[in-house]
Amino acid sequence: MTYEIACMSCGHQLYSGFDLRSPNDILKAMDYKCKKCGEKLSLTKFRVEVRRLDGSFS
Ligand SMILES: [Zn+2]
Repeated sequence: MTYEIACMSCGHQLYSGFDLRSPNDILKAMDYKCKKCGEKLSLTKFRVEVRRLDGSFS
């Protein structure tokens, strides 16, 4: 399974990997801002998806 975090505004993938990381750590590393659309990211304004390797949502 992969763990993904995407911007709610533009869908830009902020993080994708196999490690379940704290969303706060990821947002902090990105300065709480989407690199693509510049949208400010808060802990309630992003999407977390856990996806199986076959692409279906769990
Ligand atoms: Zn964005």
